[in-house]
Amino acid sequence: MRAVRLTQVGKALEEAEVDLPEIGGSDVLIRVAASGICHSDEHYRAGISRIDRLPVTLGHEIAGWIEKVGGDIKHVTRGDRVCVHYLAHCGSCEFCIRGVEQFCRTGEMIGKHRDGGYAAFVKVPGKNAFVLPDEISFASGAIMMCSSATALHALNKARLKPGESIAIFGFGGLGFSTLQLARALECDQIYVVEINPAKLASAKLFEAVPIDATKGNPVEQIAHATNGKGVDVSLQLIGSAKTMRHAVQCLAVLGRAALVGLTAESMSIFPYTELINKEVEIIGVSDHLAAELPTLIEFARSGKLDFPPDALRFVDLDAEQINASLHAFQNSIDHVRTVIRVASDV
Ligand SMILES: [Zn+2]
Ligand SMILES: [Zn+2]
Repeated sequence: MRAVRLTQVGKALEEAEVDLPEIGGSDVLIRVAASGICHSDEHYRAGISRIDRLPVTLGHEIAGWIEKVGGDIKHVTRGDRVCVHYLAHCGSCEFCIRGVEQFCRTGEMIGKHRDGGYAAFVKVPGKNAFVLPDEISFASGAIMMCSSATALHALNKARLKPGESIAIFGFGGLGFSTLQLARALECDQIYVVEINPAKLASAKLFEAVPIDATKGNPVEQIAHATNGKGVDVSLQLIGSAKTMRHAVQCLAVLGRAALVGLTAESMSIFPYTELINKEVEIIGVSDHLAAELPTLIEFARSGKLDFPPDALRFVDLDAEQINASLHAFQNSIDHVRTVIRVASDV
């Protein structure tokens, strides 16, 4: 079968003809329909995020049809439409038992530690295949399993309740999903903090209050917009110490700041005035959980989470086209997502 693989860090991905994977009793074989190209894939290619075992077929945002089913797997049959939870986990270590499998002792990411979806077929543990309702396109089904799933996890970690206000720092792919999911969770006012005029305009189009960080301190702007109260929840998706600090400072009494964006910088806060005195919480967010995916899929099925056609771009399962998309991440500012259309009949 055809696959597009990372063979050497720092080099372009290469097309290869590889054997069809053999499945075990607890696995399924998926005929890939759509595979999302993620910013992390560019980090793997460039060596920013380390991969030890090469070559590997990238692609962790996967949707397709069940082709073969291992003997132990009962919830799907051949021909079912499915999307994939990308974290293969043991199910028996202390973290898996507690339901926080993103910390699994032997967890492996599909499309990083084992072959992923930049291929005609992919083998995944059966429990990682979730039925994809007909209302959800394969492209949406693929891309929502990464950034949208993480956005939902962040909102869950921040314990966003109906009627609460939220500030979203950064309006890329994650921010776009966060806005829709926050609304699906029946939040009140949404503030989107950005510096990019196109993204601020897009946030306004989605009926959020745009906060232009180039026009003054966003904390003061949020305070002004909330009559001095601040927001109940803030989600920091950018990965800079300065915006993390803003995400904490803009909170109301008992507010929760969920930090998602990565940075190597250290952040500083004044513990008494900014944390203790208001009993605010700073919460780290890593990945997402299998248990959260049925809710995510239901939000997408009911149209509460939606990827408008102009937010998607398609390429073929072709090394040249995929490499060009990965390259484009280096100076991309839009939130258009690129999806590999693997099967011609999608
Ligand atoms: Zn991803
Ligand atoms: Zn485990």
